[in-house]
Amino acid sequence: MLGATGALAGGVSRIWAIPDEWREKLRSGPRLETWKVSTCGQCPAGCGIRVRLIDDIPVRILGNPIAPVNSGFACPMGEAGLELLYHPDRIAAPVRRKGKKGERGWEPVSWDAALEQISQALAKPGKGKPPGPFGFLMGDRNTLLTQLAGEFASRSGSSHFFPWRIPSVNELGFWQGGLEYPPLAFDLTRTDYMITFGTNLLEEPLSPVYFNRIYGKLKGERARTGLKMVHVDARMSQAGRNATEWVQIRPGSMGVLALGLTYVILRDNIYDQDFISRHTQDFRKGSDDFQTLVTRDYSPDRVSEVTGVPAQTILRLAREFSSAKAPLALAGGTMASSEMELFTQWGVASLNALSGSFSAEGLWRDPAPLPWDPFPVSAFSPRSGAFSRKPEYGLGSDLPASWMAENLPALAEAGKLPDLETLLIAHVNPVFQASNQKAWRDWLSRIPLVVQFATMIDDTSPYADLVLPLTTYLEQWDLTLPTPNLPFSQLGLQQPVVPPMSGARPLGDILLSLGREAGVDLHPGSNGKSYEEYVEARMKQIFASGKGTPFFEAVSLEFLEDLRKRGWQVYSYPAFGDFWRLLQEKGGWWDPGEYPAVDWKRKKKFLFPTTSRLAALLKESPVPRPERDGETKDKTPNLWLEEGIRRPDGPNSFILVPFTSLMNMTGDGASQPLLQEMFGLYSRLYWQTWAEMHPERAKRLALRDGDLIRVVAEKGQMTLPVKIVPTVSTEILSVPFGQGHAERGRTPKQIGANPVAMLDHHADPLSGRNSWRSTLVRVEKINR
Ligand code: SF4
Repeated sequence: MLGATGALAGGVSRIWAIPDEWREKLRSGPRLETWKVSTCGQCPAGCGIRVRLIDDIPVRILGNPIAPVNSGFACPMGEAGLELLYHPDRIAAPVRRKGKKGERGWEPVSWDAALEQISQALAKPGKGKPPGPFGFLMGDRNTLLTQLAGEFASRSGSSHFFPWRIPSVNELGFWQGGLEYPPLAFDLTRTDYMITFGTNLLEEPLSPVYFNRIYGKLKGERARTGLKMVHVDARMSQAGRNATEWVQIRPGSMGVLALGLTYVILRDNIYDQDFISRHTQDFRKGSDDFQTLVTRDYSPDRVSEVTGVPAQTILRLAREFSSAKAPLALAGGTMASSEMELFTQWGVASLNALSGSFSAEGLWRDPAPLPWDPFPVSAFSPRSGAFSRKPEYGLGSDLPASWMAENLPALAEAGKLPDLETLLIAHVNPVFQASNQKAWRDWLSRIPLVVQFATMIDDTSPYADLVLPLTTYLEQWDLTLPTPNLPFSQLGLQQPVVPPMSGARPLGDILLSLGREAGVDLHPGSNGKSYEEYVEARMKQIFASGKGTPFFEAVSLEFLEDLRKRGWQVYSYPAFGDFWRLLQEKGGWWDPGEYPAVDWKRKKKFLFPTTSRLAALLKESPVPRPERDGETKDKTPNLWLEEGIRRPDGPNSFILVPFTSLMNMTGDGASQPLLQEMFGLYSRLYWQTWAEMHPERAKRLALRDGDLIRVVAEKGQMTLPVKIVPTVSTEILSVPFGQGHAERGRTPKQIGANPVAMLDHHADPLSGRNSWRSTLVRVEKINR
């Protein structure tokens, strides 16, 4: 113990800025060990954590063994959380930019003066000047706080609340297929054949610890169950490494492969005709139906030509999928992004519909709603070309504002977003994360007041007028909401394990106080109360519903299954106070619930894609639709979409494919040295960015492992070491995302490059989301 605390007080002080009084306590305190539970806030998955404290000072983070989503495990980001808490470059007081937008240079400003400036800008009519249009851009960590922020924007009269997040698996396809939102949840343990179209459940922020556990279990049992897992992608991600088969494909062409599989299934008549006739629409209705679309354009030979997947493989995969008892096809995530992302997911949803597995017991289920009033959300209406607070979900035609977040500058340019007078930004770094970074810099420079809430100065800060310091998730209250796609509900309770760092404030309390100033009652009947009380009030609603229970013991997947089979009883708590105390002791609430099949009698019918529907959607494209060389008017919309699939056009030409890893999903991890140490775990290249190339291409370019290359894009260039690996297709140059910051504390400066900054700005015209698979680059060897 002595050694550990001694090292803590001395050796790590260069990367951990421990307050002076704590340092003294660590040297001379009684060295009493305690543990506190909370919920990780490094990504939206909401894993339960246990924090080890010595003399009330956090020294280690581990997983909470009784949190159902992670059962005691934590990923590297979760374990590195203290590096965020103790980061030496956290801002400790509000600052105001001194020079012009884009310039670095700050002067201190008091909290009162900063909040007064924001309140003035957002003042309601009658309380001062009328408010100008304002927006709120927020990195969506799947928390109650995100919902409060949406409520704050909406009640203050703004339709412009933009949560920034990667859509859930299948979200885009289910949306257009007319199924409700959020998308149906799935249970991987019930499938005997799974095909993932780019979806990398093991390294994306959906719930990586949970899915790593499930993959481990499924792999361990494979010899007995015969489960087959097929992963389709241009790069072998962790999902590919853990699959039984990796199918290499040309980037951006996964939707064509999905429809190629449906071609074989239809031709061989091996689909669930009963499900199709009872629960779907537009399968067959003359000349403009799904069957016509597929049989016209997706024969195995043509699909093979477009995707690079052999026709024999297409035939085999289709037959394997349709002969499985409970087949499951998944699409979505960063690795599945392309200019036909929505159409791809729609094709994959159609595969599931054809198999009839949507109605299989336990494989899919309706998402379990929380017993809360729905929160207001903003959505983009293609018909009116504007954002609204009353989206029409039923038709699946209004698009969630989260899909549009990255493209706000383009929407503003096209007149689909008013000239904002104020923009609030929290928990997101668009000038680093977006592919259209120049457009973001220009747009932010035009907005009169940009306010950033952050823990440290980052790449976006120079375009903010005010930066207000936030507490980390280890110093505040919140609830992490259930993750879509999991077979149970969980609410993770975040509670402070230490008091807030001096000068920083929780965003929840800031919003409640701004709301009060503006006369907006965000917390009815509790004027002047804190965000902690807001969280408590939500849990009172859960308590009153009688559903679920605080975490109670370590839950294995088998035990969960047993609970469902045998039924289970909720402990009864005499009063909310007992329930609330237990929540704080255990770290959260969960409800394994029942797991019935989807109620298709009640549900709307699944809509298959058709030529006319695609044409109508393309006409309403939320982002300006680009002209393409050689475009002809008689080209059908699905074939027009295929023109976004790129091919290298010369011996040193590649498709640039950025990818994310578990060490750094959003780029924020670059400021945490522990994550930098692990960033190159598979490449053995640490604290830098590298480029992965197939051996065949490397040989032709006379490159050896570790050689430096210049990657030249239209937007700029990067110098990177090359890593020669057989786990990428010959057409791509694969580069990890996360490095190349201009600002984010001292650690990441001068380290690596940002491949996303090199991407051409190509968006999927149906969803508005930017593509990470559409940029050609040239590679030049650097002779040393
Ligand atoms: S998966 Fe996300 S929530 Fe879970 S430990 Fe890792 S970073 Fe934290």
